[in-house]
Amino acid sequence: MTGKRIVVLGGAGFLGSHLCERLLEDGAAEVISIDNFSTGSERNLAELPRFGRFQSLRHDITAPLHIRGPVDYVFNMASPASPLDSMQLPIETLRVGSLGTENGLLLARDKDAVFLQASTSEIYGNPLVHPQREEYWGNVNPTGPRSCYEEARRYGEALVSAYRRTHGVQTRIARIFNTYGPRMRLEDGHVVPTFVGQALRGEDFTVFGDGSQTRSFCYVSDVIEGLVRLALSDCTEPVNLGNPREMTILQLAEAVRQVHGGSSRVLFQPLPRDEPRQRRPDITRARMVLDWEPYVSLEEGLLSTFAWFRKVTSRRTPRHEDGLASAPL
Ligand code: NAD
Repeated sequence: MTGKRIVVLGGAGFLGSHLCERLLEDGAAEVISIDNFSTGSERNLAELPRFGRFQSLRHDITAPLHIRGPVDYVFNMASPASPLDSMQLPIETLRVGSLGTENGLLLARDKDAVFLQASTSEIYGNPLVHPQREEYWGNVNPTGPRSCYEEARRYGEALVSAYRRTHGVQTRIARIFNTYGPRMRLEDGHVVPTFVGQALRGEDFTVFGDGSQTRSFCYVSDVIEGLVRLALSDCTEPVNLGNPREMTILQLAEAVRQVHGGSSRVLFQPLPRDEPRQRRPDITRARMVLDWEPYVSLEEGLLSTFAWFRKVTSRRTPRHEDGLASAPL
């Protein structure tokens, strides 16, 4: 990425801000974040001006995008990402996934830039095939409570593919599985920050159903490495990026308790509608095409996640900013 001029849509979010930082560290000529701060935060970008090659623009990408000068890469990281965020912002999620993605593609087409779409394992829905390979088409309820996110991301993949076929845009599609790490919000509804917040407050862990549903959790630096490798590759097929180590939600709760200590127990609650039973990426394609696989262990990743949440929550008094005041789920 040395010497490249790069636009990151949704650059103020969890993944987007880590990506901006990584691109600047890699010697990008300029990184421009475009974000409306709906689920992201200026705080996530606070360290980036030190590079002197970073710009943050406040803009809703459902409106047309105009950037002066050349652009080499457009990364589309703009979308509410957690089930809770997207259920609270259903229309916004559908609009950014459709209009926002198209505006990003038009920018890439006009600048002859590579366009990378941050898609998601949610496009597989409640999968009937396990583990999930990229060839699997998914099992999605098009009108259920999760559909605003799942269908927006599926439409996004279709649109990206259409712009590649019709306009010759150089496109890449990353299907990202559950990712965690510093700069998540405790209250965003993802299970890792939910458990971390509950452990820090000395509360019991909220587990939906009997906790036997499975997920796999990838540390943020591993996913960012995969995104950079994918952008630099010539792979136009979707590529799964995630950690193939699968565990039940009860096992995750136990891992969080072991890392933090404390005596939190498990509090069972009814399973939400359309909750996927199992999730594990098959990362054969990422290994073959990108020579990529995750290497940060869950224990290491949880330690640095706890360290970050302890730091931000101790230096700020208004507890609601970090979601410490209320139980997220
Ligand atoms: P996030 O909510 O932290 O970041 C999304 C960013 O997009 C935010 O900064 C938000 O303000 C911005 N945004 C939303 N709508 C916008 C609009 N209309 N105009 C401009 N900016 C807008 O989420 P994240 O976890 O960083 O996820 C980023 C991407 O990665 C999403 O596309 C998501 O689907 C994908 N993804 C994330 C995960 C995960 O575990 N975090 C897993 C799979 C896929």
